[in-house]
This record gives sequence, structure tokens and C-alpha cells, in this order.
Amino acid sequence: MSATPYRGRFAPSPTGPLHFGSLVGALASYLDARAHRGPWLVRIEDIDGPRNAPGAAEDILATLARFGMHADEPPVWQSTRTALYQQALDTLDEAGLVYPCGCTRKEIADSLLNARLRNTTLAYPGTCRDGLHGKPARAWRLRVPDGDAAVITFNDRWQHAQTQNLATEVGDFVLKRADGQWAYQLAVVVDDAETRITHVVRGADLLDSTARQIYLQRSLGVPTPAYLHVPVVVNADGEKLSKQTGAAALDMRDPLAALAPAARHLGMELGSAASSSLDAFYAEATALWAKRFAQAQ
Ligand code: GLU
Repeated sequence: MSATPYRGRFAPSPTGPLHFGSLVGALASYLDARAHRGPWLVRIEDIDGPRNAPGAAEDILATLARFGMHADEPPVWQSTRTALYQQALDTLDEAGLVYPCGCTRKEIADSLLNARLRNTTLAYPGTCRDGLHGKPARAWRLRVPDGDAAVITFNDRWQHAQTQNLATEVGDFVLKRADGQWAYQLAVVVDDAETRITHVVRGADLLDSTARQIYLQRSLGVPTPAYLHVPVVVNADGEKLSKQTGAAALDMRDPLAALAPAARHLGMELGSAASSSLDAFYAEATALWAKRFAQAQ
């Protein structure tokens, strides 16, 4: 077995109960940790106050346990960690990388529309880079570099070579809103670094956020973990499965009925023994995952 130092995590947002789509993400990160014999952490991403559903976090934790996925450390709650996010923002600010932005959503949409008419890009156009022009601050943005330095490349363990130009595809991005709301990008980078996560395994809907997170890691001087983005589960209309697109809650009485198709979604064909018990399922699924993703690392 590999001697790669390993710490993995699953980081659900408690917007509703776990469903088949989020189960796939949980299972992939859990199997990756087991295959590497490293600890698996759960982080509740509950900083987006208005989107939190009451009781959802507890429900997710209970479902993971019922489905046989037990975290090796107590859960981390983002809502208790805002002092760390502020520290990171201060560090970036001292490095001259942060500026206040007074643009409303409508102003940004209008300038993007103009930009599109001129056939340029859809990135934040940097309107407030040189000052607020008398407007109140609505958010703090991270200045992204121009030119070659804006191009972030990484090798995803599932999706392979990835490239994003932060300047032309994203623009200066928000770290915090004036109402105190922390941006997902900053919180996730601070928490992955502070909990010493070495391997991030999550849904491919977040592939597009990874370059921003790598740039933030470099700006904060913290290590970049390895990334693996699994294909997202879509419904019959091709939409990502979520509470909003009508994902059904999982049947707590029969975990294997959902785990078997979740493993299939991850490309694993399990033998019949795997359907006899959770232990048998995880033993076989971990061995298959290890063959694919944990050898020679
Ligand atoms: N909380 C995010 C979500 O549920 C996942 C964050 C991550 O894994 O980086 O979509």
C-alpha cells in the first residue's frame, strides 16, 4: 500500500438531506481515503446562512453514519471558523491583492453584456480596480494576474489536464461580501489548508472553481492538494441532481440499494458478494478504487 501522506474530506453544504448525487461525492472521497489508508474528515459548509436548511447538517451526518461512512475526526463546521477566513483576507490585503468593489449585480451584468457585444470576455471587468468612484463597498475582490501568470494548469486525477485563464475566464473574484458573507472559494481554501487536506475528491461541478482555489493557495503560501473530480449525476433533463432539481431523499432502511448504483456511477462493477453487507460492499469497492487510483502514487 502506498506511503503517500493522505488526509481526505467530504464537504457537504447543508441545504437539504443527502441525495443520490451527493452520495456519489461522499462515496468517492470515502473510498479514496480508505484506499490510501488515510483519515477521512467531514466538513459542514454552513456559512451560506440563507441556503442552510434547519436540521440538514445533522441529517447528513446521520445518513453518512447509517451508510457506513464514519469520519475519523469530529466534523468541522465552517460557521465556527470565520476568524480564520478574516485572517486570510487580512494576509491577502496586506499583500495588496484585495480591493473593495462597489458594483451591483446589474452593473456587472450590463458591462458583461457590453463586453459580449464587443466579442470579448465574460470575466468580471475590473471596474473597481482603480477605486470605488464614490460608491459604497459591496464586496472585496481578489486581484488576479494578467498575462501568462493568469493561466493556471493542474492535472486532475479523473479529468486529466486542466487549464483556466483566470484573467479572461473569471476575473477578480469575490472573497467576502459587505453583509459579512464569506465566499465559498476563500473558506474552502482556508479550511483545506488548516485541516491539512492532501487530496480533494468532489463533484465535477466544482472543476471550474479549482483554478481559483489554486491561485488562492499560492497567494496565501499554502500547499495545493491533489484533485479528483467525479462526474456529476444528472436527471432525465440533463440537470445536475440537487434538491432544486427534485432529487429524492435516500432510503435510510436500505443503504446498499443506493450505494450499489453510486459505485456503478463511479465506474465500478461489484460482484454479488458486495450486496450482502456494508462491510463486504466497502471491502470490494475500496479494493477496486485502490487499483484505479491508489497504486503507484
Ligand atoms: N460544499 C460544496 C458543495 O456541497 C463542496 C465543496 C468542496 O468539496 O470543495 O457543493
